[in-house]
Amino acid sequence: MKIFNSFTNQLEDFVPVHPGKVNMYICGPTVYNYIHIGNARPVIFFDTVRRYFEHRDFEVTFASNFTDVDDKIITKAIELETTEQELAEKFITAFLNDVEKVGSMTDYIKPRVTDYMDKIIVYIQTLIDKGYAYKSEGDVYFRVGKIDDYGQLSNRNIDDLISGARIEVNDKKENPLDFTLWKKTDVGITFDAPFGRGRPGWHTECVAMIDNIFGEEIDIHGGGSGLLFPHHENEIAQAEALHGHHVAKYWMHNGLLNFGGGKMSKSDGNVILVKDLTIDPNVFRLFTLSTHYRSPINFTDDVLDNYQTEWDKIYRVYKQLYLKLDLADQLYGNAKIDPDLLLIYKDFLAAMDQDFNTPNAITALQDLVKKTNQLLRTKTDFEVLLSAKKLFDDFFDVFGLKTGLQPLSKDDKDLYHKWNEARTNKDFDTADELRNLLQEKGIL
Ligand SMILES: [Zn+2]
Repeated sequence: MKIFNSFTNQLEDFVPVHPGKVNMYICGPTVYNYIHIGNARPVIFFDTVRRYFEHRDFEVTFASNFTDVDDKIITKAIELETTEQELAEKFITAFLNDVEKVGSMTDYIKPRVTDYMDKIIVYIQTLIDKGYAYKSEGDVYFRVGKIDDYGQLSNRNIDDLISGARIEVNDKKENPLDFTLWKKTDVGITFDAPFGRGRPGWHTECVAMIDNIFGEEIDIHGGGSGLLFPHHENEIAQAEALHGHHVAKYWMHNGLLNFGGGKMSKSDGNVILVKDLTIDPNVFRLFTLSTHYRSPINFTDDVLDNYQTEWDKIYRVYKQLYLKLDLADQLYGNAKIDPDLLLIYKDFLAAMDQDFNTPNAITALQDLVKKTNQLLRTKTDFEVLLSAKKLFDDFFDVFGLKTGLQPLSKDDKDLYHKWNEARTNKDFDTADELRNLLQEKGIL
């Protein structure tokens, strides 16, 4: 299995820290707003990564944080005359609803900054004790100059960074690149620390949480490409200072979702919120996973129609297959793999093993649709049909697609058989009546 490691900029063999286990951490949202469909891309993609590792029998520990202490939250809480906690609580619930809405799993470890405050403070204090951080007028800064290969992840060198216009001038810092670990403030929610009252900077929370949840270097740290610098670079600097490792063996970054030709941004107002999406989550997942995760996705209003058609095609064939097996009471029998089906499965694995090439893996799903159509048209053993169904189920599991199909009740099966009987006997009136009934029940 190969993963493109953003740290080395290379495709590398995936060798987990502990055989058979995968520890992964994804930077989560700052909870002061609803997420838009661009934010949903990592939510869908890294969920698919988890699902694939689980399909390959890895034991996965998946963590993703909530940033519930942040300037944006404080500003908005003041604006809305509410507390930071209430605001955060509201948008944590909203986020998890959206995660569920796009078909991603919600049963993962969800650390919050407020729950990890003691640990974040200890982390910062340790950096100070070891000389990697310093206090300045109540703030605490990280001493970037002490990290030899700072800039390695984002491929920037220190001189370029210093001359870069984006670095703010701040007399309190020894070096313009030094970043804030703790900010002295009396606006909004604040916490007591040995180095003064204030609140933590954003870059420490993830490393402190990873340290406490996993206790060592993890396998995969992921997030959107926008987090590469400075957030992830600064996470690495801190882990290197304390532990001499780079937080994760593999760094993975997903590309942006562009909207109407430009980057989707809240300030432009050209956003579609996940909560406002009216399409089938299966369609949205197919759309998201049909582009390789490192490439940008261009979203246009009509693009989803194509994926609706695509999903309808997949669903129709699967439903026929399911119904045929169910009516013959063969949903749970023995499966017999056909050589063509085996080839399709191998293509799927090869695609996913090559840096999670979901577009190619979806092609394997489309091949399965074609093959199943053939199988349904010819006289095929139930064992082979069942193995086609199992393959569908595996693919659906990894992509996070749901059909919601349930085995028919005995009454419904009887109804179906009566319809068939009426057709065979050319009793068209009864057949029509029964067909309408079956359609009403969603069986046909
Ligand atoms: Zn983070």
